[in-house]
Amino acid sequence: MSSIEHAHALVAEAGRVATFTGAGLSAESGIDTFRDPATGYWARYDPAELASPAGFAADPGLVIDWYNHRRRTLAAAEPNAAHRALAEQADLTHVTQNVDHLLERAGAQRVLHLHGSIGLDRCHRACGYEERIDISAPPGLRPCPSCGAPLRPAVVWFGETLPEATWIASVEAISAADLLLVIGTSGVVYPAAGLIDHARSTGAAVVVVNAEPIRAPADVAVIGSAADLVPMILAGRRVGQADAGPGSDVW
Ligand code: NAD
Repeated sequence: MSSIEHAHALVAEAGRVATFTGAGLSAESGIDTFRDPATGYWARYDPAELASPAGFAADPGLVIDWYNHRRRTLAAAEPNAAHRALAEQADLTHVTQNVDHLLERAGAQRVLHLHGSIGLDRCHRACGYEERIDISAPPGLRPCPSCGAPLRPAVVWFGETLPEATWIASVEAISAADLLLVIGTSGVVYPAAGLIDHARSTGAAVVVVNAEPIRAPADVAVIGSAADLVPMILAGRRVGQADAGPGSDVW
């Protein structure tokens, strides 16, 4: 049996399925991952430094310009075949590290954004101010209208804490799953990646779809493009009843 056939069989026989996705899911929509080599003007900067409190403290205007470049790219992007295949499965809960909203754009109902949303700004001092922005024409660096601290994207930067309610909802969704479908993630960004180990510890099957092998406790790993493989793996799956699971958190 090939790895695709094995993955397809596991998914077909699983009742409750949750997904855990990363930047590779959106790569074929034209949204760069942080790990794969970038091209163009921003290739000279390290995303891990820009997406950090230290990077923002060193040069807030640069960090906002970089996010605004990513926002405009996202505004022009479309969900790919993997997003669409996942969205067709109405009973799935999606735990994503992605700050884009391409799963929702494809029609997915239950998306938990562990790393926040690029479509929102919030106060960097966390006074509570939050604002939805137009990602096709994002504003530059500006002060919080409530307290005067700088506004920043409402995403979780390297070294920051995950949103507690989303984390709890994600652990619950994965605890209830018979199978976790892991797509397009290196599995090295913690604590999010610990959800793969958690799925395994609760007895769920783990299927990985990624462009390269990752270190994860998988029953089967299928190596290749998410847009090609995810529709094949989900083909013919009988969609279960959507119960009263969590709704999406930010979109
Ligand atoms: P990551 O650690 O989740 O790694 C991405 C993985 O995707 C890599 O292992 C890569 O081999 C794989 N991949 C690349 N193209 C693929 C494809 N077409 N099909 C299948 N797999 C593919 O992500 P990262 O890039 O290190 O990002 C770190 C964090 O930065 C994320 O967790 C997220 O918070 C943020 N981020 C978000 C987005 C987004 O929202 N689209 C994009 C980049 C980064």
